Amino acid sequence: MDDNIRTEISSLGEFGLIDHLTRNNDTRQAGTILSIGDDAAVIDQFGRQCVVTTDLLLEGIHFDLMYTPLKHLGYKAVAVNLSDIYAMMATPTQITLSLGISNKFSVEALEEFYEGVYAACERYNVDLVGGDTTSSKKGFVISVTAIGEVAPDKYVTRNGAKVNDLVCVSGNLGAAYLGLQLLEREKKIFLENPGVQPDLESQKYLVGRILKPEPRADIVDWLQENDIMPTAMIDVSDGLSSELLHICKKSEVGCILYEDKIPVHDDTKAMAMQFQVGTAACALSGGEDYELLFTIRQEDYEKISRNYDISVIGYITEAKEGAHLQTKGGAKHKLTAQGWNAF
Ligand code: ADP
Ligand code: MG
Repeated sequence: MDDNIRTEISSLGEFGLIDHLTRNNDTRQAGTILSIGDDAAVIDQFGRQCVVTTDLLLEGIHFDLMYTPLKHLGYKAVAVNLSDIYAMMATPTQITLSLGISNKFSVEALEEFYEGVYAACERYNVDLVGGDTTSSKKGFVISVTAIGEVAPDKYVTRNGAKVNDLVCVSGNLGAAYLGLQLLEREKKIFLENPGVQPDLESQKYLVGRILKPEPRADIVDWLQENDIMPTAMIDVSDGLSSELLHICKKSEVGCILYEDKIPVHDDTKAMAMQFQVGTAACALSGGEDYELLFTIRQEDYEKISRNYDISVIGYITEAKEGAHLQTKGGAKHKLTAQGWNAF
């Protein structure tokens, strides 16, 4: 390495940085059947397959304690990790939880956080089996690792989408982003005028989507019960564009996404008007929805159409055709990932 060269992290971005740092990563163990590059890794232990994923949440980057109840934060820290396990079509079984805690926290505050952690463990039937605790000079640090299991070779990666497959998404998109905008707006009003108490009651749905997301275990169950094996799958943490581009890149395909097919909740539509942003933009670039984005074979269309909580939003094309959004007006735009980027 030349000592005189300094490359800014921002020139690579989050994904570019991961690719760069792991480009020479070797696999030594026969049991490592899927390594870096998906929602979770897959490890084979004498025919049994387990999936592993980890996430780091930092105060000030991923959450703001001014408007995030600790119980919700505990729940969400677990939920977002489980979402990556479900995105492999696997079932979560255990988690570990590591914390960096500053002295501004009381034992009671941490108990509240754990109430949320335990509530998520109960809801999704997983065991908390360990972790680590240290002090932090500034800010609350949360790291969760989730482990899950899957029948041998029944996991779904990001790289199996084929030309003509249908692109599907669960639930609706863009709500979490607007929930966050709403909380940020109320925070600003409160800081300027502490006498004013925010009224968020009428926006329970949007605020709930950002503060207490639910991973789509139900969708994975339904797909399994109906014998539908997606060809590729990813969870929507960074926004629809970014996730669909991950599938396209890994699967070496292109896609057409129809703007008018993107599922959006009525509350999202109303709030998007207030904030004067397009609902499609919220869905495409907002993130934190924790829905499942997946591709299926055309022959599974009829089965999928029976589930009203799954929308078919586009289809897969040859790589050379690129990844495009077809707008309501009929115009075609190149899909770009403006997803969340810490750098
Ligand atoms: P997700 O959004 O599903 O959590 P990420 O975009 O965070 O996925 O990560 C993509 C892939 O890169 C995953 O396989 C993850 O384990 C891996 N990864 C992320 N950061 C690092 C790192 N610092 N070192 C090695 N692998 C990493
Ligand atoms: Mg993911």
